[in-house]
Amino acid sequence: MAISDDDLERLRSSVSIVDVISQHVPLKRTGRNWVGLCPFHGERSPSFNVREEMGRYKCFGCGVSGDVFRFVQDFEHVDFVTAVEQLAARAGIQLTYTSGGESRERQHRKRLIESMNAAVDWYHQRLLTSPDARGARDYLRRRGLAGDVARTFRLGWAPDDWDQLSSSLGAPAEMLRETGLAFTNKSGRLQDAFRGRVMFPIYTENGEPVAFGGRILPGSPDPAKYKNSSETPIYAKSKTLYGLNWAKADIVATDQVIVCEGYTDVIGFHRAGIRRAVATCGTALTEEHVRMMKRFASRVVLAFDADKAGQGAAERFYEWEEKHKVQVSVARFPAGKDPGDLSVSDPDALREAIDRATPFLGFRLHRVLESRPLRSPEDRARMAQEAMQVVNEHPSVDVRKLYAGEVAARVGMPVNDLVAVAARGGRAVVRMAPTRQVGIAENAEFVAVSLLLQRWNDIADWLIEGLFVDDVARRAFLALADAGGALTTALAVADPEARELLERAAVADLDAEPFIEACNLIAAATRRGLARSTRFTDPDAMRESTEARQQLELLDTPASAQDAAGVLLGWLDRRGEERE
Ligand SMILES: [Zn+2]
Repeated sequence: MAISDDDLERLRSSVSIVDVISQHVPLKRTGRNWVGLCPFHGERSPSFNVREEMGRYKCFGCGVSGDVFRFVQDFEHVDFVTAVEQLAARAGIQLTYTSGGESRERQHRKRLIESMNAAVDWYHQRLLTSPDARGARDYLRRRGLAGDVARTFRLGWAPDDWDQLSSSLGAPAEMLRETGLAFTNKSGRLQDAFRGRVMFPIYTENGEPVAFGGRILPGSPDPAKYKNSSETPIYAKSKTLYGLNWAKADIVATDQVIVCEGYTDVIGFHRAGIRRAVATCGTALTEEHVRMMKRFASRVVLAFDADKAGQGAAERFYEWEEKHKVQVSVARFPAGKDPGDLSVSDPDALREAIDRATPFLGFRLHRVLESRPLRSPEDRARMAQEAMQVVNEHPSVDVRKLYAGEVAARVGMPVNDLVAVAARGGRAVVRMAPTRQVGIAENAEFVAVSLLLQRWNDIADWLIEGLFVDDVARRAFLALADAGGALTTALAVADPEARELLERAAVADLDAEPFIEACNLIAAATRRGLARSTRFTDPDAMRESTEARQQLELLDTPASAQDAAGVLLGWLDRRGEERE
């Protein structure tokens, strides 16, 4: 550590931990301790204890504890050195840094930040006042990024010229190169890195400018829409979140951080009064980013097209959720709109999208479940398979089981079957239960009558009176069959109950395959027939029963189903006549 132990001790002994904490948390003397409501977890009765003479605090509610440095780090969300420096400044103590090398490093960093600060100011003034920035000002005004917004976010303009920044700033060439503000070109001259671009300064969480994102104006011949500072000693993309410095307070207050794709999206959220948005700077979200965010909030909302992130990203997100105890959810925006646009055209839609963000797994699952209509049992089986594949990517078996229920409801399969798939985990293999077990007889019979009405040619050959157990369905079937499928004729001859069923059947909205539905009825009728025939001892009847059992099995296989259905219908028909 760069700060000497002596300094730390001096600081610890001269700073009152009760003073420091009670600036933020009202404390009351109780016995030897000072007690208040814990700032690190929500509570109604105080369990946060501070002991002055020990220089320590402890919460008996959530278990946090530490010294004055720990408190400042956790409460202000700053690193150790910053916490020490803040306390030292308050106490008027001059810090001596232990190792000369590290001290020089910090000094150097300070100078780099100073150069960046100077560049931020220079670009910003250019934008506000320079005649050559008129195009940029017009552009920003159209996007709702002018005036106060431009001032708050210190937007700037890099003139379309070789070295105006480099020559105006007066910083040493080495500084300009090291910060990535300029580079040495082929002819050996110092040249500005950004030209003809609107500038978005990128700050650390503590408000130090470390990089820029530059955007071309519409109509520019430059093919790169955005250009970002390259990595420098003070700037690492994987550890930087644009906007965190402005968003920190709201992120902590709401326990939520919104992750966008671009600078203008972040600013859009702020404009709409949602001041907890950040963006990655031209990279995908990394674990380093998640580690940063979880120091401030446990809920992460992705406000970009998460589809693009794909399956690999899903696995990473789930891993981070578990490892870093964060919840990742996804906000969906109206097609073709990004948060930056919405903040101008419809700020309420922006807020609504955040309020309605769904967990990442739910988001991906709905993408599958809503992708197409389900017209046949085969469709259902395929969708169940695909959906469970997505569900089984999640590492938690409990989460998987919960979502399996949702899949079951959508595809109309038994919940237990899919929960079993979720419990097994790994590659999802969904076996479809034989369709004839789905639904009770009445429903199947109603479906058959409906199909007869709506798709006569596809089912008429496969239905006979003997398939119907429910008397109303049987009478409706007979009326319709006698009318040759003509609804008005059937309604005229049907009794009131059958008529009512036919009227419902005429408007039934079905996802059923006629032949399969007919097979369901044929199989059910065959089983009923076989159950009855066990009472018979006639050798012919027994031979026929054995034959029927074999045909019943063949009904399961698509290749043999039609022949088997024909044979069984004949058998059922003969038996019906025998009984009459
Ligand atoms: Zn607590």
